[in-house]
Amino acid sequence: MKIPLSILGAGLSFLFLAALFWPLERVFPAKAQRILRPNWWTDLAFFLGQYLLWGACVLALLQLFRGWLELVIPVGFRSVVKSQPWWLQATEVILLSDFLVYWGHRLQHRVGFLWRFHAIHHSAEHLDWLAAHREHPLDTIYTMGLINLPAFLMGFPLETLAGLLAFRGLWAIYIHSNVRLPLGRLRVLIGAPELHHWHHSRERDAGNYANISPLMDLWFGTYRCPGHEPEAFGIKEPMPKGYVNQLLHPVLPKKFLLNRSLNPPCSSN
Ligand SMILES: [Zn+2]
Ligand SMILES: [Zn+2]
Repeated sequence: MKIPLSILGAGLSFLFLAALFWPLERVFPAKAQRILRPNWWTDLAFFLGQYLLWGACVLALLQLFRGWLELVIPVGFRSVVKSQPWWLQATEVILLSDFLVYWGHRLQHRVGFLWRFHAIHHSAEHLDWLAAHREHPLDTIYTMGLINLPAFLMGFPLETLAGLLAFRGLWAIYIHSNVRLPLGRLRVLIGAPELHHWHHSRERDAGNYANISPLMDLWFGTYRCPGHEPEAFGIKEPMPKGYVNQLLHPVLPKKFLLNRSLNPPCSSN
């Protein structure tokens, strides 16, 4: 019963996202690119993997994490938080979440162990809404843990933020889409593809680490918006091709990887 339902969910989500983004990418393209660009099938495998395999595991782990935090957080702390008006709690949750995601993301680019997993996401050399799904499941758990940590700590009901969480997820897909819709002054409040595309340029410390709002990048000096698209996306280090190889890449010893089919290391820009 559950397997057909999850397949239906994946199919409907694919149709919804394709119906939303394919016209946008056609009418307002950031770069000239056909829908079935290179490695499209690898990104489709990541999309299906998220919906059919890893999504339920990530949710179960988050529930476990939440249960464990409930045991270790002092009850007094929770009652102080709950005595605040709901809008103040919601604002605190959103700001703390953005702060944690921003610094957690910077760490992913700085710390070698975290980069091994995050590099899978950055190995995409063509960006569109589907490429947003190229993410190692352990990388997803790390980011989802950080996004939800403030709400878990404060005992804030996530249902209250369900709309915002859905918007955050959709926005994360949008900022990868092959779309250029200049937002004018709004772009300092709301993240845009033109910013996240620079995050995917081949420099590992390219900046623009924030997701929904670039305010954290502005505050911490990592905001970057040159006004045109980067020449190329991807990473400078070798990365095997294909879904299974990329899932195994961060967890296998390097000497084993030498025997696998690898993309040749790219020359620097
Ligand atoms: Zn990144
Ligand atoms: Zn990205």
